[in-house]
Amino acid sequence: MNDLPASALHAPAAASAAVDDSNRGGAPTHSPAPARGLCTDCGISRSSDPKRCGRACQFIRPDYPLLEARVHGRERDPARPDELHFGPFIRMARASLRTPRIGAQWTGITTRIAERLFETGAIDAVLTMTSDPNDRWRPLPVLITSAADLAACRGMRMGYAPLLSLLEPARAQGFLRLAVIGIPCQVYALRALESELGFERLYVIGTPCSDNTTTENFHTFLDLLADDPDTITYLEFRADYRVELRFTDGRVKTIPFLDLPISKLPSDFFPLTCRTCVDYTNVLADITVGYMGGQGEQWLIVRNARGEELLGLLGDEVRTRVPGSAGRRAGPVKGFLANVERAAGGLPLRRMPSWLRPVVNWLMPRVGPRGLEFARTRVEMKALETVVHLRRELPRRLRAMVPAHVWALVAPYGLEARADELPRVAPQIDGSPAATHERATPQ
Ligand SMILES: Cc1cc2nc3c(=O)[nH]c(=O)nc-3n(C[C@H](O)[C@H](O)[C@H](O)COP(=O)(O)OP(=O)(O)OC[C@H]3O[C@@H](n4cnc5c(N)ncnc54)[C@H](O)[C@@H]3O)c2cc1C
Ligand code: SF4
Ligand code: SF4
Repeated sequence: MNDLPASALHAPAAASAAVDDSNRGGAPTHSPAPARGLCTDCGISRSSDPKRCGRACQFIRPDYPLLEARVHGRERDPARPDELHFGPFIRMARASLRTPRIGAQWTGITTRIAERLFETGAIDAVLTMTSDPNDRWRPLPVLITSAADLAACRGMRMGYAPLLSLLEPARAQGFLRLAVIGIPCQVYALRALESELGFERLYVIGTPCSDNTTTENFHTFLDLLADDPDTITYLEFRADYRVELRFTDGRVKTIPFLDLPISKLPSDFFPLTCRTCVDYTNVLADITVGYMGGQGEQWLIVRNARGEELLGLLGDEVRTRVPGSAGRRAGPVKGFLANVERAAGGLPLRRMPSWLRPVVNWLMPRVGPRGLEFARTRVEMKALETVVHLRRELPRRLRAMVPAHVWALVAPYGLEARADELPRVAPQIDGSPAATHERATPQ
């Protein structure tokens, strides 16, 4: 059992009835979530006005250009290096805390920034996830009111939980200056509704996210990775093409990506939401804290002045340098596309012959895409996956769900938008959609 951070008790709904919805994480919530098709239960559907999903949801009718302009002062500019892939930013860095924090996923930059916000008196509360007391891998939303309690939030959980269902309780408790740590689908809804939430100050610290699944599915995966899966305390897909596992007894095990038992997973292991998610790098956060472009360190994308302010809070605690970039992504991305097309067509994944795998496992960290090229590789793979899976499973959603920049990312690999797949006139986030638009209805 994990202990909840003390200030989790500040979430007023903590004692409310548990939600009978095993796909959504058993978090303290405002109300049960209405059934939705493409939904990662960000929490808006459990709020006092669930109809807001229609204008808040990344899976219904997203408008990234509008929100990028609103949050950062301008939308992504494909003419600037790397903005097509990573969204608007001022600068990127490869970074580590000089003193890594115990329990952190990497060195703990994310939660340390939030601690600093408390220490400098900038905020009243942080909205983030901790672990469910009965399952360390299950995320549980919490409102934290002291820096000390952030230690219990460090680390990654797999799955979704209704983070934003605690926005209204936060306001009800008088918290006007809030920091939110969230994954992209949560941050999209937060930004879409930001102007009507009534906070005086909002700091948004985002992490990248991909290949998420339900906590239940994730346990199936852990079962395939070790004889003692209940003792796994840490898992990360590292930039050196290996998965790192840590165990309760201090053991560390690494597994090359190619040796992972991916072909043993059921075809619906990853939900359609996460196979078709268009925002890998959390483009609407003030600062994105990930690892993909970090070559073994963390990777920071400072997106606006508030993001600079957040990074500045760390002072000398953080070591930063210019991110590197090496290798070429085209080959691996083409190979990935071929496999995604097979999988989407119901065919088994093509596995590399076992004699060749050790060679490629040795070669990839040395000659494969590294640093920013690795991050570009992963973003392009996600874009291809989005188009292939939506075409196969929900072709009518492409027009509404796939922004123009995704089509630009997939074009070099021979995927082009048909006329009926291209985004229509920009929708309106505030107010009703323009007359030419279909109504935004949750799937
Ligand atoms: C499901 C998932 C997939 C990810 N995939 C990638 C990826 O492909 N590439 C990449 O660069 N980075 C990815 N990340 C981010 C990465 O794992 C680290 O969280 C990030 O680099 C921050 O590390 P840190 O040491 O600074 O975090 P810490 O200081 O340890 O803080 C981690 C923060 O993340 C929050 N958190 C943990 N689990 C969840 C969850 N399920 N939902 C919402 N919030 C959560 C915690 O509450 C905490 O606030 C992913 C994160 C998640 C949750
Ligand atoms: S905004 Fe989207 S992800 Fe969030 S609860 Fe509504 S339908 Fe689900
Ligand atoms: S992959 Fe995308 S849709 Fe899935 S949980 Fe992560 S941000 Fe949300």
